[in-house]
Amino acid sequence: MSATVESAAKPALLVNGVPYEVVMGIECHVELKTETKMFCGCRNVFGAEPNTNVCPVCLGMPGALPVPNEKAIELVVKAGLAFGAEIPAFSKFDRKNYFYPDMPKDYQISQFDMPLTQGGVVPFWLGDGTHGSCRLTRIHLEEDTGKSTHASHDGRIAGSTYSLVDFNRAGVPLMECVSEPDIRSGAQAVAFLESLKRTFVALGISDVKMEEGSLRCDVNLSLRPIGRAEYGTKTEIKNMNSFNSVGRAIESEVARQVAVLEGGGRIVQETRGWDEANGGTHSMRNKEEAHDYRYFPDPDLTPIEFASADVTRMRAELGTLPAEILTRLISSDKLRPEQAHQMVDSPGLFAYFSDVVERCGKPQAVVNFVLGDLSRLANESSTPVPESNVTPEALAELVGLVEAKTINSKTAKELLTRLWAKGGSPNAIVAAEGLGQVSDTGAIDAIVAEVLAANEKTAADYRAGKTKVLGFLVGQVMKQSRGTANPTLAEERLRALLDVCG
Ligand SMILES: [Zn+2]
Repeated sequence: MSATVESAAKPALLVNGVPYEVVMGIECHVELKTETKMFCGCRNVFGAEPNTNVCPVCLGMPGALPVPNEKAIELVVKAGLAFGAEIPAFSKFDRKNYFYPDMPKDYQISQFDMPLTQGGVVPFWLGDGTHGSCRLTRIHLEEDTGKSTHASHDGRIAGSTYSLVDFNRAGVPLMECVSEPDIRSGAQAVAFLESLKRTFVALGISDVKMEEGSLRCDVNLSLRPIGRAEYGTKTEIKNMNSFNSVGRAIESEVARQVAVLEGGGRIVQETRGWDEANGGTHSMRNKEEAHDYRYFPDPDLTPIEFASADVTRMRAELGTLPAEILTRLISSDKLRPEQAHQMVDSPGLFAYFSDVVERCGKPQAVVNFVLGDLSRLANESSTPVPESNVTPEALAELVGLVEAKTINSKTAKELLTRLWAKGGSPNAIVAAEGLGQVSDTGAIDAIVAEVLAANEKTAADYRAGKTKVLGFLVGQVMKQSRGTANPTLAEERLRALLDVCG
């Protein structure tokens, strides 16, 4: 199993002059995108009027019996398979006993020792082009709890005068992905989460909206001197509501732990909440003793058994995974990591890009147009690129014209604006209007001669050593040729003629 791979030039984290490393594992709760809840037929939707999607089962009424949602089980298995996890032939549901006002049964149906998936590796690319990965321990399936709202100025229970409970969320299928402690930086943590999100969205497993709570994650973080095998004392960070806040919370907690250690203190094992407004973490509770949830197999639910044929079918249904596409775009097509991520995260744009590349090759040239001028035009007109007048065929022609140096980049830009407004074939327009780039030395020399005659003083300045004026003269040649001159050739001929005629 591979652990993480960092770039060679990793900046050192020093504690009292000793190089340290950050060690992190992440637990994510992800609400599954199913029509109905985990053990009843209530609708699974976000934002409904409180307590309208409830029934005796999800309200924990005595005698109500749960019936597992097969679709939810399948989605979790697919999530595991997408990361190469093992799917044990036998799995079961357990009761996790604890009291909480938004959990009416006083136990949560979860999975203890026999989760649906075990192992697996989540790959990710970092912005600097390095590739990393983080092992998964397991993914298990459970039910979500209801949602408490405390009537206090900061939404916390302390100081609240009363609390409200909404059971719409109670019983929503929830999968918990637990990682191994392979993550070494905030950038890796965010890249890991983005990789999970991208995969779950692509497979229709979850919509993964942190702001709606369909993805919630806790980060376990500790520090240790580089080279030491044992882990340091960890803290658990909660309450981040965006990927950006995950990165910031990690940065802040690392700085806090470094300060504690440098001050001669010791790290206390505890849960710390991220405070978005203050940009820091605060202690929520310390975990001196382990919880005893008195797990036992749920007697109302039969164990889950998979035939290998089922697993084979589900694996085949995965199709091409985002990670595979990313690797191809970065390694083979030589796209920059941020370009590749933007492509994979916009399925419509990616389909358009792929169509164009299939017609003309040149993925780098195509991606520059798609994410550059075309995306700008799309923003200005609120029309998505794939629905614009610039068909994949037209863009492929345009790229072909630029690559063959028939037109220069300035003409290409102007042509693209025209295509966006009215459509058409770049090949036809260039032929009809004589927009082809002039790469003929004789024709360029004629224009250069004209420009030098009209700018005698500037030419004299150049010859006197003010070579910076060359850019101005090239601009004049471009202007004189209505933008069709090959700029490289124009500069070359200008230099040559200035030297000769000096
Ligand atoms: Zn229900």
